[in-house]
Amino acid sequence: MPEILDQAPTILDRARAKVLTDGVGLDEAEILAVLRLGDEHLPELLQLAHDVRMAWCGPEVEVEGIVSLKTGGCPEDCHFCSQSGLFTSPVRAVWLDIPALVESAKQTAATGATEFCIVAAVRGPDRRLMDQMRDGVKAIKEAVDIQVAASLGMLTQEQVDELVEMGVHRYNHNLETCASYFPNVVTTHSWEERWSTLKMVRESGMEVCCGGILGLGETIEQRAEFAAQLAELDPHEVPLNFLNPRPGTPLGDRPVVDGKDALRAIAAFRLAMPRTILRFAGGREITLGDLGTREGLLGGINAVIVGNYLTTLGRPATADLDLLDDLKMPVKALSATL
Ligand code: SF4
Repeated sequence: MPEILDQAPTILDRARAKVLTDGVGLDEAEILAVLRLGDEHLPELLQLAHDVRMAWCGPEVEVEGIVSLKTGGCPEDCHFCSQSGLFTSPVRAVWLDIPALVESAKQTAATGATEFCIVAAVRGPDRRLMDQMRDGVKAIKEAVDIQVAASLGMLTQEQVDELVEMGVHRYNHNLETCASYFPNVVTTHSWEERWSTLKMVRESGMEVCCGGILGLGETIEQRAEFAAQLAELDPHEVPLNFLNPRPGTPLGDRPVVDGKDALRAIAAFRLAMPRTILRFAGGREITLGDLGTREGLLGGINAVIVGNYLTTLGRPATADLDLLDDLKMPVKALSATL
């Protein structure tokens, strides 16, 4: 498609001036032009995304740990998720107790991580879960020097206020995909319901962590739409996942995202959001492999999760930390995040 190739120098030059020099993210049409760049432009694109990240975020990489307080048995039907109780996937409801939560926070802090995110597979928290959070956050704060984040689904205003009062400083709630594709992926709640929780979190003063999954069957145009919608929300952090098709889920047979498309997407999201913490999340091992982790970190990514993901095994913590050392990217210190 020669007309697209002809646009390549234009969009890269435009991004260099707008994003790298002025710190203004690309709009939806510009993001789409980046996603359509040919493979021959990928090295230049990744270099630009890396330059943007270094210019507007700096060299530090945020390391985070994640623990599941309640795993599996969720009443929602997100088609990619093995924690839904509506599919035949093998993850069944399990609750963690408070001593195990504190132990996990200690192990996470020992890796040098500054963030410890408590996750529960629920539509939204009930009283029991909020009480467990209150006890868990208190116990962690007494025992471990680490910031506590939470991911508990959709919230009411009262629950937002309660989490702030507990001292939860960041809340994760993913939009998962763009508004126009969301009904193909989730039918038990709407994109707008997720958006409204995110607005309440933002107004509460908690940091907003919001991302999604690529490779759900969305088009390239919808990928650009999603990046633009995230940029409008302007989250503090964006976890970017690539679908790891889980057996027994409705998307269990989908192909994994091609490695080059994944790198192009990482760079495009960075150019849409020059200042956000852009984190590699689940699925990167199968999409990118070890080499891709390195290329992603040199192509716009500036946060990683250490250790296990929620339902599948990630790379060992030490492999990521060795890689950061190798790339001369310092791990962000706790004092720098307060
Ligand atoms: S709400 Fe969360 S845990 Fe529940 S099915 Fe959807 S993604 Fe999975």
